[in-house]
Amino acid sequence: MDKPTNENPENINSPFDTFNPLEPQEFKRQAHLVIDFLVDYYRNVENYPVLSQVGPGYLKNRIPDSAPNGPEPIENILHDALIGSHPRPPRSSRTPYWIGLGKCSGYQSTSFSPEGGGGVIQGSTCDALLSTLVAARDKTLKKIGGNGINKLVAYGSDQTHCTFRKGAQIAGIHRDRIRAIRTSKANAFALSAEDLRVAVEADVKSGLVPFFLCATVGTTASAAVDPLGPLGEVAKEFGIWVHVDGAYAASACICPEYRGFINGVENADSFSFNPHKWLFAGLDCCCLWVKEPAVLVEALSTNPDYLRNKVSDLKKVVDYKDWQISLTRRFRSIKLWILLRSYGVANLQQLIRRYIKMAKDFELRIKTDKRLEVAVPRNFSTVCFLISPILIRGENQVSDDQTWINNLNAKVLESVNESGKIFMTHAMIGGVYVIRIAIGGSLTENKHINLAWEVVKEHVDKAMLLAA
Ligand SMILES: *Cc1c(COP(=O)(O)O)cnc(C)c1O
Repeated sequence: MDKPTNENPENINSPFDTFNPLEPQEFKRQAHLVIDFLVDYYRNVENYPVLSQVGPGYLKNRIPDSAPNGPEPIENILHDALIGSHPRPPRSSRTPYWIGLGKCSGYQSTSFSPEGGGGVIQGSTCDALLSTLVAARDKTLKKIGGNGINKLVAYGSDQTHCTFRKGAQIAGIHRDRIRAIRTSKANAFALSAEDLRVAVEADVKSGLVPFFLCATVGTTASAAVDPLGPLGEVAKEFGIWVHVDGAYAASACICPEYRGFINGVENADSFSFNPHKWLFAGLDCCCLWVKEPAVLVEALSTNPDYLRNKVSDLKKVVDYKDWQISLTRRFRSIKLWILLRSYGVANLQQLIRRYIKMAKDFELRIKTDKRLEVAVPRNFSTVCFLISPILIRGENQVSDDQTWINNLNAKVLESVNESGKIFMTHAMIGGVYVIRIAIGGSLTENKHINLAWEVVKEHVDKAMLLAA
C-alpha cells in the first residue's frame, strides 16, 4: 500500500480522478448480483452442512496480502469472498444482508498486523480508547499494585475528543486525575510536549502515577495534529502508554504525501482510526492496532467453559473476543476488504486528494474575502473560519466583544443551514466560535463547493448589513 502511485498528487489528469463509486447503473447491477447470490443460497440451503467445513486460516491463503492498486470487478470479489463452504445459517439468524454474507461463509474477521503488534476492527473510537485504557491501566497496576488505581493519571488536551474522558471514567480513573492540558492558537491548538512534561512532572511530584496519553491526529474541533514524536519522547521517559486517536484524519495517510502527519507514531503503544469517517466504509468500522497485544488480551480475556473449543485451545485462531469489550462481533473486515478491492488503493488515494483539494479551494476563497478569516491552519479537508472581528471593529465601529462576535457567527451558521442547500457545523476553539466545513461526502464535487461558497457569501452579506 505504500507505493506512491502518482508523482503529482493533484494531477487532475489521473485516470483515477473520474472514479465514481456510486454510479447508479453500476450500483444497481452489483446490488442485483448480490441479491441473486442470496436467493440461490437460500434455495439450496438444505444442501449445505450445518457447520462450516473450512479450517482456521483457510481464507488467509486464498486472498492476496495487500490491496490492489486499481479497482476489481465485483464478480471477482464475490467469487473470492464467497467461494468455500456455506453452512446453513443458525436458527436465529435474520435474512443476511450484504455484510452478513461473511457469517454464512464461516470465517472470522481478519486482522491487520504491522510488524510486532496486532490489530482488531472494533466499532468505534470510544470502544478502542476504552480497551486501550483498560490495557494500560492493568499494565501499570501490575507494577504498582491494584490499590494504586486512585493514583493513576491520564492525559489529553482540551481538544481531545470527549470520549477520552468518558473512557477513562469507565476504566475507573478518578475524575480529578483526567487531565485536559490547555492548547493555544499560537500552537495551532496542538498539545505541546513541553506542557505535557510540566503536567506530568507536577503529578509525579505529588505522588501520582502518569499512565496514559491520548494524542490526536486531526482533532474534532479543528483537525489539529499533536506532535507524536516529541510527545512520545516525554511519555517514554515516564513509562506512559501512548494512544494515537486518528479517527477522522488518519485515513489521509493512505496517501504517502500526508504520512508526515504521523511522524513519531513508532512511539505509540496503540493507534486507532475510523475508516467509516473518511475512507468510505459503512458504519461502523474502527481499526485499532496495539503494539503489545498480550497486554490487551490479558486485560480483556475470559475463558468460560461454554466458549471452549478445540481450535482456540490449540491457539490456531485469534479470539477477538479477548481484544474488545463485547463477545459477539460483527463481521466488519469484509466491508473493508470489499471496499479496498472494489475501489483500489489508487482510487482511495485520489478521492482523499480530491477532498483536500476542494478544501484548499474553499480555504483560498475565505482568505481572499476580507470579511472572513481562516480560524486555524487547515491540515486536511476541514476548514474552520469566521467573520473577521477586525473588520467588524474597523469598518463598522461595532463592538469587538468576543461574545458579540461569536453570536454573529452563530447566526450566520444558523441561517446558512436553514437554507437547506448545505450543512456546516461549528466548534468553540479557544473561546472563539468558528464555522466548520468538512468535505468528504462520497457525492461531493467541485460544484458543491462552489454552491457552498455562494451560500456562505450570501449569508455573510446579510449579516454584515444587519451588523452595520
Ligand atoms: C469522531 C471522533 C471520535 C469519536 O469516534 P467514535 O467512533 O464515534 O467513537 C474520537 N476522536 C476523534 C478525533 C474523532 O474525530
